[in-house]
Amino acid sequence: MLLPPFQLHEPTTVAEAVALRQLHPESDFLAGGTDLLPNYKWQLNTRPHVIGLHKVDELRAISPTKIGALATLKQMNMDGALWQEVPVVAQTAGLIASPLIRNSGTLGGNLMLENRCFFFNQSYVWRESIDFCLKAGGTACHVVPQETKCYATFSADLPGPLIALGATFELAGPSGTRRVPAVEFYKNDGIDRHAKRPDELLTFVHLPPTASQYRASYQKLRQRESWDFPELGIAVALKMKGETVEDLQIVANALECAPKLLRDIGSGLRGKKLTDAAIDEAAAAVETQVRPVKNTNLSPSYRKRMARVFTKRALLEARAGGPRRA
Ligand SMILES: Cc1cc2nc3c(=O)[nH]c(=O)nc-3n(C[C@H](O)[C@H](O)[C@H](O)COP(=O)(O)OP(=O)(O)OC[C@H]3O[C@@H](n4cnc5c(N)ncnc54)[C@H](O)[C@@H]3O)c2cc1C
Ligand code: SF4
Repeated sequence: MLLPPFQLHEPTTVAEAVALRQLHPESDFLAGGTDLLPNYKWQLNTRPHVIGLHKVDELRAISPTKIGALATLKQMNMDGALWQEVPVVAQTAGLIASPLIRNSGTLGGNLMLENRCFFFNQSYVWRESIDFCLKAGGTACHVVPQETKCYATFSADLPGPLIALGATFELAGPSGTRRVPAVEFYKNDGIDRHAKRPDELLTFVHLPPTASQYRASYQKLRQRESWDFPELGIAVALKMKGETVEDLQIVANALECAPKLLRDIGSGLRGKKLTDAAIDEAAAAVETQVRPVKNTNLSPSYRKRMARVFTKRALLEARAGGPRRA
């Protein structure tokens, strides 16, 4: 499969990247290219202009409270300060795809990853044989045919723990910068997926200084541990006060069109002991609240059942202190 022709632009600053985007509304940003370029080869929503970010060095910095969009997944996974202060972020970066992909795949590309669906992530000829679909070139959805909404599955891992830890995303656009809480960033729609405006660039992720007070965990189900996309991910962030829960955030990820913060389950445990029975109860509640559809490799009923198992694992790991660097 060949890449379609496009004009490549190479800004060296955020301001230049934003200006280029204004000049070429029919364009995509390119970071590591591990998602965008395979999609282009499959002729999925290609654009005539591509704005490469690889020379925008100001976006590469990493610290436990601020991570640049161009930080690679490998750099995040190898960063000692991240492991020290927010280990779940460093660990999750290392659970994404394969070592080769993590060498070039970036934080920004992960947060902006295209939603996936069995009927979308296919070659042009394959999609043509089913008359395409709503998300690329067609008029109907093959997963929920009576609907006009796309149910493509959210498949990026890092947003799960970042939402649980209370991160905010910084965006740069023609009228300046703004911050959006990660929990408000994603929309439950496989096409209109997020709050970033088309002329904005995602520049930084900010973690609150209090994030390091949480014990967190991310548990991910995939078909092949070596490189597959998540079939589900459960992120938890737990803050204890003595023997009882002061705060608990649980995010069900990669089960629907967007990560889902299950506020009521977490807040129901505030002021209580996190006993084995309480963990079992919370895990059962997660199973009842998630609604996967049939558009990934594993069946919705299996993913739903596994949401309970993986929530239990996440809560047990968080209770024990969170992940440690191998
Ligand atoms: C075999 C395989 C397995 C994978 N497994 C996983 C997995 O397990 N978990 C997972 O989460 N991902 C997985 N991925 C997806 C992907 O590799 C990663 O999510 C990676 O982090 C994407 O980053 P990138 O820099 O390569 O993004 P790119 O491909 O460069 O960009 C992806 C999208 O983000 C947009 N974008 C990039 N940077 C910015 C920015 N700063 N501002 C605005 N928009 C931006 C691009 O326009 C594009 O739409 C997998 C990919 C492959 C090929
Ligand atoms: S959920 Fe429906 S519209 Fe969305 S990608 Fe899949 S088939 Fe297409």
